[in-house]
Amino acid sequence: MKLQKIHFILFQIVLIILFASCRSTDPEVFTGYAYDPAGVTETSDREIIPQHKRTIGFLSDGVWISNEFPGSRASDIYRTDDFQYTIEIRPEISPVNNSPWYGFKIWSSDTARVTVELAYPEEGRQRYTPKISTNGGMDWKPVDPKNYHSGSSGILELDVSQDTLWVSAQEIYTTEHLSVWLDSLSEKSYIRNSTAGYSHQGRPVSLLKISEPSSKPLKGVIIVYNRQHPPEIPGYIAGLKFLETVAGDTKLASRFRDYFEVWAFPMMNPDGADNGHWRTNAAGVDLNRDWNYFRQPETAAVQKTLLPLKEKPNRKVFYAIDFHSTGRTLFYPIIKEIQTFPLHFTYRWADEIKAALPEVDLDVEPFDIVSPIAKNWTFKTFGADAVTFEVWDEMPRDQVRQLGVRSAELFMKLMIEEYQNHIRN
Ligand SMILES: [Zn+2]
Repeated sequence: MKLQKIHFILFQIVLIILFASCRSTDPEVFTGYAYDPAGVTETSDREIIPQHKRTIGFLSDGVWISNEFPGSRASDIYRTDDFQYTIEIRPEISPVNNSPWYGFKIWSSDTARVTVELAYPEEGRQRYTPKISTNGGMDWKPVDPKNYHSGSSGILELDVSQDTLWVSAQEIYTTEHLSVWLDSLSEKSYIRNSTAGYSHQGRPVSLLKISEPSSKPLKGVIIVYNRQHPPEIPGYIAGLKFLETVAGDTKLASRFRDYFEVWAFPMMNPDGADNGHWRTNAAGVDLNRDWNYFRQPETAAVQKTLLPLKEKPNRKVFYAIDFHSTGRTLFYPIIKEIQTFPLHFTYRWADEIKAALPEVDLDVEPFDIVSPIAKNWTFKTFGADAVTFEVWDEMPRDQVRQLGVRSAELFMKLMIEEYQNHIRN
């Protein structure tokens, strides 16, 4: 090969490298947040790694460990010494965000103290403080700190007996929990449950509408998304409490429902919740990165349900909330430079919550609108302001419920004012 030609090829390679690196730093081309795995915005179906369901008995110790129930995750279980076990936990897809979900049951023929190591051989490190249930997953509490050590893996001391102990990263709230909750609410005449569509594995993507007949010619619409990410239980609890409060019997709630209706998707990722996933749906996709393309049945069902709102002259989308959980409690509003309707609502709502609940320590971190997430799609589609509402993973659950209720009360008060301003102008 001539030297000139080699030079030309080298020049082309340099150009390609430069072009590729420019693309990745272009702020308009969103390729994922810092904590996302590579390729997170490529939301076509992928093959997930199945979890084998089984119950393993260690006969010399008389101890049994099982993952044969919805919401569980324990990929491999083995004995390392007398009354000592390692549970290996693997995600449904790799690489994936560090939301290492686990869930198993343990019991024994005689009372015994056992040591369980929660190990992450493939990726991930211990994040969630174990929650324990002694009544079949009805009630949960965090493990006693003196029986728990956390590093890259988690070490747990457990007192086991014939009574089954449930151990999980967070409370196990599967689609079964959701249907009980939906049934309890649907006794009210102004609440309608329906199905927006179905997941890959045929589970319903539920739509809960809170809507009362009203004299108003225009009704505001509030959209609520929840549980796109299966392990994010505190956000799920806060979201359900928010909806219960808006659907409540108080004067404020009834007044709010005269101006507004709520369209809620309380369980966006039912397959992920029932299969104990760390992050994704049954096709290995992070649903909250699919709001540009709608390649997944769950996001597509929600889009199809909401789009007709654009054509309704007697409806106007005012706001959307997307509930999540992370290492602290914070709001991700849309940056103030962007003209939302209502303008800067999230900032005012956050201020009210901070004043009412200082112990919650709510942070506010504005973001631009380039990422393909639910909040940004709602703004781009309806012009409405929206928030990603993150609740701290380990917030005491009484406080989580209080946050759900109180934030809803403040929200209703502020939103009614927004409605009245809108009509006046
Ligand atoms: Zn999330």
